[in-house]
Amino acid sequence: MKADLVLYNGKVLAETLVIENGYVVIKNETIVRVGEGSCPKDISAKSMIDVEGKIISPGLIDMHTHGIMDVDFMSATYEEIVRALQEYAKYGVTRLVPTTLSNPIENIIRQHKLIRKVKETSPFGAMIIGTHMEGPWLAERCRGGHDAIYLQDPKPEVVDHFLTEVGDILASVTYAPELPNSVYLTEQLSLRGVVPIFGHTEASYEDAQASILAGARHVTHMYDTTLGYKENPDEALVMMPGMETAVLMDDRVSIELIGCPVHVPKPFFKFIEKVKPRNKTVVVTDSLVGTGMPEQTVLTYEDGHKVYVEDGVLRMINDDPAINGNLTGSAVTLNIALKRLREYAEIPLARAVEWVSLNPATTLGVEKSTGSIKVGKFADITVMDDDCDIYLTIVKGEPIHDTLTRRKS
Ligand SMILES: [Zn+2]
Ligand SMILES: [Zn+2]
Repeated sequence: MKADLVLYNGKVLAETLVIENGYVVIKNETIVRVGEGSCPKDISAKSMIDVEGKIISPGLIDMHTHGIMDVDFMSATYEEIVRALQEYAKYGVTRLVPTTLSNPIENIIRQHKLIRKVKETSPFGAMIIGTHMEGPWLAERCRGGHDAIYLQDPKPEVVDHFLTEVGDILASVTYAPELPNSVYLTEQLSLRGVVPIFGHTEASYEDAQASILAGARHVTHMYDTTLGYKENPDEALVMMPGMETAVLMDDRVSIELIGCPVHVPKPFFKFIEKVKPRNKTVVVTDSLVGTGMPEQTVLTYEDGHKVYVEDGVLRMINDDPAINGNLTGSAVTLNIALKRLREYAEIPLARAVEWVSLNPATTLGVEKSTGSIKVGKFADITVMDDDCDIYLTIVKGEPIHDTLTRRKS
């Protein structure tokens, strides 16, 4: 067989098993053979890459990220978005879902159209699965970093307008299911194949159930701005089931955690691993501007307030000691999130990788074409070592980040 690219001498995390010493053959953007041992002599390729015993992993998929380095998807230009995609590749990401923050609807529409243009016309466009709208349809009490002035209920005419304008590029929408019209919103998303996602919510069990019935199938950064339970106002110390009960009880709903011990206390990783079906667990970065920058870098926002980067999070700089150092958001990269997940959930790397490859692909409905090393799927692959440091990132058979072969030449 004449192939385009062969990766060999690696530990292959294939979809169905781990091959301690194996190879992957790529032709026409696609994985055409996965095998054990050295590459058979009947295969020749334009490029043969010896990965030197490293791990040949499915490419990582980040289904919730707002930006990286100095690029924020809510305000980025075309060129900045393209530059950001190249940055993600350094951390093993082969596919992502650029996410916008709460803003006036017309601004959000503008950015989603721009991301669609990048997907359609840029050489890195294949990395974009679609867009994720997070806000403004969120609960005020649980808004977290979203600006309260933009929050609103999903009015049917606004939902219709939004979906008419950008429904084709939209992969997912996060909203609070307790808001008026949220069942209508969920139905409209489901009808278009857009994944309805709960988030920034303090919904009751009943409200969550109603939206799950209408098609909701995922929870954005669980345990961060999600209030799971409430006390019964009429019966002291009696707890009422809330959205957490609804989403943990229903095996069709997947759960997303930010790969960060500050946003998500460590025991939750093990808990979700235990209670959810194997393909319904996802880790994301939810990363903001500043991600990938050196430790202690100071960022100044347009309104003048400052934050600094520290160990994968952003913290506030303020003269008031009561709020100085407060958490303001995530700056973790997906390979580090993966490394932490493996440690906190106490699972093998191959299992942890599923949380950042096959599982997000399944949640987004693209698992037939990507998300694992399997014959017939696109060759979306990353080569890492046991510390989850990244050496090579391949999207649709094309190396877009490479410190493995470059180092040798
Ligand atoms: Zn959020
Ligand atoms: Zn977010």
